[in-house]
Amino acid sequence: MKVTQAYRFALEPTPSQERALASHAGAARFAWNWGLAKCQERYAAEGKWLSGVDLHKVWNAEKKAEPGLAWWVENSKCVYQEAFRDLDRALRDFVSCRKGARKGRRLGFPRFKKRGKARDSFRFSTGVMRCAGATVTLPRLGTIRTHESTRKLARRLVAGTARILSATVSRVAQRWFVSFTVEVQREVSEQHARPGSAVGVDLGVKALLTGVDDGGRLIEVAGPKALRAGLRKLRRLGRTLSRKVKGSNNRRKAADRLARHHARVANVRADALHKATTALAAQYATVVVEDLNVNGMLANRRLARAVADQGFGTARRLLAYKTGWNGGTLMVADRWYPSSKTCSACGWRKPSLTLAERTFACEPCGLVIDRDVNAAVNLRDLAASGAERRNACGPQARPGPTGRSGMKQEPGPAGTAAGQPAAA
Ligand SMILES: [Zn+2]
Repeated sequence: MKVTQAYRFALEPTPSQERALASHAGAARFAWNWGLAKCQERYAAEGKWLSGVDLHKVWNAEKKAEPGLAWWVENSKCVYQEAFRDLDRALRDFVSCRKGARKGRRLGFPRFKKRGKARDSFRFSTGVMRCAGATVTLPRLGTIRTHESTRKLARRLVAGTARILSATVSRVAQRWFVSFTVEVQREVSEQHARPGSAVGVDLGVKALLTGVDDGGRLIEVAGPKALRAGLRKLRRLGRTLSRKVKGSNNRRKAADRLARHHARVANVRADALHKATTALAAQYATVVVEDLNVNGMLANRRLARAVADQGFGTARRLLAYKTGWNGGTLMVADRWYPSSKTCSACGWRKPSLTLAERTFACEPCGLVIDRDVNAAVNLRDLAASGAERRNACGPQARPGPTGRSGMKQEPGPAGTAAGQPAAA
């Protein structure tokens, strides 16, 4: 089975390579802004835009005719083309969003990218893209050292089980990264090694995740110490920043420090989530998680950081494709399923439960249990009842009157498993 995966490496460019990277990012930004201006011009005159292909044609004619654009040769021509493709997609997404044909948050009309404000990023989709040892090779830029070894990807490339589709280079918190989008040939199990096994997982605010399996075993992943220490430092740096005078040099320095630390915490978190989800998917045929409205929760500022920090959406995405690779299934409880409010012993529903209440106490049966463990047990029990419901009601079953039914199944090993959206 072929899946699309991303492999990301931090770069350690020499000073001259760093200049070339910045130049390419500048070229991508210029091409985007140039294309957007052309589209606006045409829209004002004819009521329609230029497609990515059209933009590329106009660009090819103009770059030769216009002496002011002679610098274009300093950068790979691929970068301009990819920027036009991005713009093309952004315009089409904007239109389909306005028509209501696109899910997700509302998109505005594409904007001009300001130097220093917009993320520095550019992409190659053709040319020499390789990796070996602790280096990557990119068109025009040549061979650049990487922070870590690239052996995981290099091995696959040598064995012929992976093919690089594109490379996106971007700068995050003063550091350059390359992310290869790779088509990987993967062994996918038809059947899970432990058929019938199930685990309910509460993706927590307090712990990274809390699970209870079909044998009643408790799985608690608190997240690495480095993450908790990192979060404390993040708060401190945030406070420091807020005390600096706006527009001052010290404020800029504090902002850089905060951004760098933020990137580090994100890496630690991603690593912990990868390890935890790999283990769960290998061990259990059915993994049940909650379908929390992450967007809705992020609107709540106090909870926002906690939820974002725990990478709820990431965990679900990772579980969806990793269960698929192992021949298992990820089940997602209906958004309105009250996993935290329901007693896992007798089914009594607590009328209200605030987020501050970390313990669930049942009035009728007297059960006193950790809130997250209680939720995990309820989710695990859905695995058994959900299987029946799924057959009866289809994948999008609405919650029944008891609220104990709602269940939908994730698409599983989707074609673009780990595929991250190509950076814009
Ligand atoms: Zn009870």
